[in-house]
Amino acid sequence: MTAPPDWMQPRAPIRIGISSCLLGEAVRFDGQHKRDAFIAGTLAACFTFVPVCPEVAVGLGVPRPPLRLVDTGGGPPSALGVRDPTLDPSAALRTYGRRMAAELHDLGGYLFKRGSPSCGMERVKVYRPAGGAPAVRGVGLYAEAFMAAQPLLPVEEEGRLGDPALRGNWIERVYAYHRWRALLAARLTPGRLVEFHNRHKLALMAHGAEPARRLGRLVAAAGTRPIAEVGAEYGRAFMETLRRKATRRSHTHVLQHLQGTLERALDAADTAELGDVIAAYRAGQVPLVVPITLLKHHFRRHPHPTMAGQTYLEPHPAELMLRNAI
Ligand code: SF4
Repeated sequence: MTAPPDWMQPRAPIRIGISSCLLGEAVRFDGQHKRDAFIAGTLAACFTFVPVCPEVAVGLGVPRPPLRLVDTGGGPPSALGVRDPTLDPSAALRTYGRRMAAELHDLGGYLFKRGSPSCGMERVKVYRPAGGAPAVRGVGLYAEAFMAAQPLLPVEEEGRLGDPALRGNWIERVYAYHRWRALLAARLTPGRLVEFHNRHKLALMAHGAEPARRLGRLVAAAGTRPIAEVGAEYGRAFMETLRRKATRRSHTHVLQHLQGTLERALDAADTAELGDVIAAYRAGQVPLVVPITLLKHHFRRHPHPTMAGQTYLEPHPAELMLRNAI
């Protein structure tokens, strides 16, 4: 594989939509915020945040009466005032979600506030007018409209970012989506699609061998169908595959595959050391960053025509240290 083309390393800053309160803006119903230290610190150094508070944007003000999702029967839940159920900004929140999704068409991802009747991405409490325990199955109305309009956008909630695997998965998807959109902007051709896929092959394998093979078959037939049609199908399946959880087992398979490509280049001592490090990762004794660092060292000394350009070895900036905890 030759040096990566420009569309594989887009330089434009990645813009991330975010619930304003997570950045420390005092926009909550009670005039408070929900600043998240990891987001406002570590992630703010890598991304350009685009803060949005839908409840303020639709004119509810600060402070304001709190809302909750209510199943009023016969349709999707509504966002109603907790104390005054005649307060119903549901339609305004949905319309604003659709409007912002159209306006913010250049986002690379979105971070939503967990549990919010407007911003929650999933598992928001839905109450019944008659009372009783809420069902934890709702989606914030603004978030729901936004996600429906941008189904490929990598979205996550701040509460789930505390889990190293979920955090790593979201950030990996953000960078992969950024490259995908850069390819579309540069103009998709069958040849470029092949190159894009080849560079992501191992990253995809880590998320599922079968979906990765299906994508490979789609790319192999790219020249026989309209490229826009193939691209739409590929983009959807590519992002869906990356959403699947990569396991220690699937990472081990990928590491062993990389090790196999170095077979002839390494001497017996280096081969044994690499095998031991991969086994230690498989046994949970060292994090993923350890075998990856050793592999990168070997690929620097023994460049390989296809493996060295794999995004799997460098899916996001190293300073995020996402592979130190998985
Ligand atoms: S969760 Fe959403 S609606 Fe609520 S304060 Fe934060 S940004 Fe505003």
